[in-house]
Amino acid sequence: MNEQKQTTTIIDRTLAGERMSSADALHLWRHGNFRDLGNAAFEVRNRLNKPDEVSYTAFRVVNYTNYCNVECSFCSFMDEVGSGKGYNLSADEILRKVDEAMRLDSPQLFLQGGVNPDLPMQYYTDTLAAVRDKFPEVHIRAFSPVEVLYMEKLTGKSLVEVFTELKAAGMHSFPGAGAEILTDRMRDILSPKKASTDEWLRAMRTAQQQGLRSSTNIVWGSEENDDEIIAHLTRLRELQDATSGVLSFVPWTFQAQTKKFKLRKVAPHEYLKMVSLSRLFLDNIQHIEVSIMVAGKQLGELALHFGADDINSPVIEENVLRSFGLKSVSESVQFIEEAGFNPVRRSFNYVRGAKTDQGT
Ligand code: SF4
Repeated sequence: MNEQKQTTTIIDRTLAGERMSSADALHLWRHGNFRDLGNAAFEVRNRLNKPDEVSYTAFRVVNYTNYCNVECSFCSFMDEVGSGKGYNLSADEILRKVDEAMRLDSPQLFLQGGVNPDLPMQYYTDTLAAVRDKFPEVHIRAFSPVEVLYMEKLTGKSLVEVFTELKAAGMHSFPGAGAEILTDRMRDILSPKKASTDEWLRAMRTAQQQGLRSSTNIVWGSEENDDEIIAHLTRLRELQDATSGVLSFVPWTFQAQTKKFKLRKVAPHEYLKMVSLSRLFLDNIQHIEVSIMVAGKQLGELALHFGADDINSPVIEENVLRSFGLKSVSESVQFIEEAGFNPVRRSFNYVRGAKTDQGT
């Protein structure tokens, strides 16, 4: 079978409801035309989500510390532990930032930081509890696999116990951050001190089994190969098969934040192909988000016609990435309308019409 014929057969089978194999995903990634994938992905997106709607949310990012001992090659945010150049935010400083978000009618907090061995477990639980007590309506999405794996080591408790403590202190959901590419070869290249693939997945699985729901992502545009991209998507699909705790998938590309890693510029058609392929392959994840912050408005708008159904933004304060993001709710609404869809606000956990939710 020639390549185009094989592409057509795979797409037809997928549209007929058959689950795409990893081998077929690899074929589409290597040989599929991004427009063919886009047309099919748009059809699937419209079956899974209301065709005329695109959702968005609004939240405050607070990076509670930039001290980190993980030293990812691509990170320009961290300061070396002990350097005296970084910061740790106090609970009062964090509360002030949440208060600003409340005044912008964005009662959701995304709390994340580096791995700072100088912070005790009580810092995390006290911080969560302080936000919960002062702003009980705020949804707190917090930490990442690498941070909770550090807490596990720090306390000597099991991950289940760590998540139980965090939830009791006020955490509502758990972001699937720090995945980048889930193969140990790429993790060794990009961030050898970070959680291995298995450890990252263990943290996500445990969180979701404890009722904490998550987003997931891929960050590509470095030295990863095609097989690794498909391996990454396959691991996320398997995770979701096991837990049903993944709400969305977000394709991200590496940014030129440091010169310590190989950056490959991802062309717009490759970005769109990732949006479409993920929509077709991740049949068990309902939402594909486009990050306007990374893709920019033009490409972001196109992505909504290539399988994405959510734009995530606006984000208040983002320290880690350069931002092309939408700065306000009204800008988001306008962006979605100009892209030809009806905007629907949703909470972190995809409660439609809600600015926040307390569900886990
Ligand atoms: S990306 Fe996160 S874990 Fe890696 S060095 Fe930066 S702050 Fe640390």
